[in-house]
Order: sequence, then C-alpha cells, then structure tokens
Amino acid sequence: MGHALVEEVVTHGRERRIYRCRRCKFTLRRDMPVTTTTRTYEHHGQLTRTREREYDEQEPVITCHCPPRAVGTGLANERVHYKTIKGTTNPDEKCGARCLASKGPTCDCSCGGENHGKSWT
Ligand SMILES: [Zn+2]
Ligand SMILES: [Zn+2]
Ligand SMILES: [Zn+2]
Repeated sequence: MGHALVEEVVTHGRERRIYRCRRCKFTLRRDMPVTTTTRTYEHHGQLTRTREREYDEQEPVITCHCPPRAVGTGLANERVHYKTIKGTTNPDEKCGARCLASKGPTCDCSCGGENHGKSWT
C-alpha cells in the first residue's frame, strides 16, 4: 500500500503585501487571496504533511507613472514590486502612524500586520 490520505484541510487567507516603486517611493498596500491546502498522509504509521499554496487571483501587474521630476525624463511606467508584510504581534505597541504609514514590510505592533500600510490603500 502507498500513502493514505488521512486529512485534508483547506484554508482561505490573504497574503499581505506592500508595493513600493523603486524610483519615486510610491507605496501601495494590496492583499492577495490565497488558498492553502494541508494534506496529512500516513505511511507505515508515519505521518507526513504537505502544504500547497495557491493564489486565487492572477498576479496583478502594478505600474507607477512616476512624477516627471522623480525620473527626469517624463512619464515612466515603472513596474512596482511587492514585499510580503511580516507581522509580529506585539500587544504593548499601539498601532499608530508608524504602522499605518509605514513603507517597509516589517510590522511589530498590536495589529500583527493587519493595519500595516493601510494609509496607502
Ligand atoms: Zn514611481
Ligand atoms: Zn499596526
Ligand atoms: Zn504595522
């Protein structure tokens, strides 16, 4: 006998992302819906687990029309890349401007990343 499927758990979540234009520092908070399937298999009494992540939407292409002054050569279509927000929940740190208006991907306040960069939505 091969590997027997014991359990399959499907969860729907969001990948928190912060997009930032490298040229003009334009910042955007966008989340990507993601489905995670965790499967547990049994093989000779040993349990193994696999994890599969799948995005529910097509990868968005976000371009920035950088202000002419920032580039020097007029309008540019700069592809904006993202960083995944890494949130560490810290109950002692109140969620404030440092979080809401942050341009970086690291969050360590009470929201654990939920409100991070929200002023850029
Ligand atoms: Zn830009
Ligand atoms: Zn926060
Ligand atoms: Zn934050």
